[in-house]
Amino acid sequence: MSATPAPSARAERRPGERPPAFDPADPLGLDDLLDDEERAVRDTVRRWTADRVLPHVADWYERGELPGVRELARELGSLGALGMSLTGYGCAGASAVQYGLACMELEAADSGLRSLVSVQGSLAMYAIHRFGSEEQKQQWLPAMAAGETIGCFGLTEPDHGSDPAAMATRARREGSDWVLDGRKMWITNGSVAAVAVVWARTEEGVRGFVVPTGTPGFSAPEIRHKLSLRASVTSELVLDGVRLPADAVLPEAIGLRGPLSCLSHARYGIVWGAMGAARSCFETALEYARTREQFGKPIGGFQLTQAKLADMAVELHKGTLLAHHLGRRMDARGLRPEQVSFGKLNNVREAIEIARTARTVLGANGISLEYGVMRHAANLESVLTYEGTVEMHQLVLGKALTGLDAFR
Ligand code: FAD
Repeated sequence: MSATPAPSARAERRPGERPPAFDPADPLGLDDLLDDEERAVRDTVRRWTADRVLPHVADWYERGELPGVRELARELGSLGALGMSLTGYGCAGASAVQYGLACMELEAADSGLRSLVSVQGSLAMYAIHRFGSEEQKQQWLPAMAAGETIGCFGLTEPDHGSDPAAMATRARREGSDWVLDGRKMWITNGSVAAVAVVWARTEEGVRGFVVPTGTPGFSAPEIRHKLSLRASVTSELVLDGVRLPADAVLPEAIGLRGPLSCLSHARYGIVWGAMGAARSCFETALEYARTREQFGKPIGGFQLTQAKLADMAVELHKGTLLAHHLGRRMDARGLRPEQVSFGKLNNVREAIEIARTARTVLGANGISLEYGVMRHAANLESVLTYEGTVEMHQLVLGKALTGLDAFR
């Protein structure tokens, strides 16, 4: 898969030709921005979620489990969705736009599924691909791309979330070995992972370690009682004198630059993914508004409902357009972290607003698992917080705009 330029809708127009009919599913004609290969990626992932996820996800969510996660990972590997935009080592080498489209389709099914893919590909695999030794890449990446090995990424700690520079997890030298002690919190895929990329403080700054989860002293108790991202595995990582060989450290990452660049990559996928969840909520609300009757007519015939639908559609497609723009720019020139913050801040904030509004359109049915909107709305609460909270992205942009650092 490669980054081919998108066809220009303008070049195809003949003199006097009327613009195509208004499509409620694609009011801005954004499909024209995609090439055939991109549409094929989107449609393949959409078909897979329709077959493998949508019939079951409400049940998984209710049970607070992701049963068959290993099988799902292998299937996602066969689709080429794991480490999708990485090259070599069995990865698909997709463009940023193709990767974004896959994230959008996955999250239209459930944010938990997109989280599985983001953490595997954009955090754990990306860290090894970008900062690992050739031996580390050969050892882990092909199996991770195939979904045979699941990975997690441990940065957050119980007392250090938005400020990872203050992390307490330590790695010290004993002879040529490294010994890790500490705790990580809220780690996606933690208890199903065979490998954890763990960030720890050393004498030379923050370093990343590739930790096989079977190493003595490592455990990953699952976090239960979540009211959001319930169809996703979230765990604590306990590192109690975890002894690793000298070559377990990621050689190319010294300092917070390492984990932060992984997060920037994962956040880019969220820019698209959030619009997938929003699309799903909008479609449910639109269909409901057309068919649900009160006061003798469909509720979609009332101005107040139409105002909600119009506002939701505007934000949904503006956000999707923003994702496309950032994707094309990433393929052409790369993205600055501030530009990724721009997209994550806007699209997750608007997606959660769309989900909440969709919930109101459905009335009491809006709180039922039978319709996906409350599930998506609850999921988006996590998406709003992880990979940098709203406030962190406002501070990133605030600093970039003013040149003044307001983080502390
Ligand atoms: P805190 O940092 O304590 O923040 C609490 C509030 O204070 C927030 O609103 C925050 O914006 C605000 N705040 C903090 N500092 C400032 C400031 N300077 N100015 C203004 N406001 C401020 N982490 C991983 O490492 N790996 C994972 O795989 C992972 N998966 C996750 C999965 C789920 C379901 C969830 C919920 C979280 C996950 N996380 C993961 C953790 C996530 O990245 C953190 O929750 C996030 O960084 C916020 O940290 P915190 O929860 O400790 O909140």
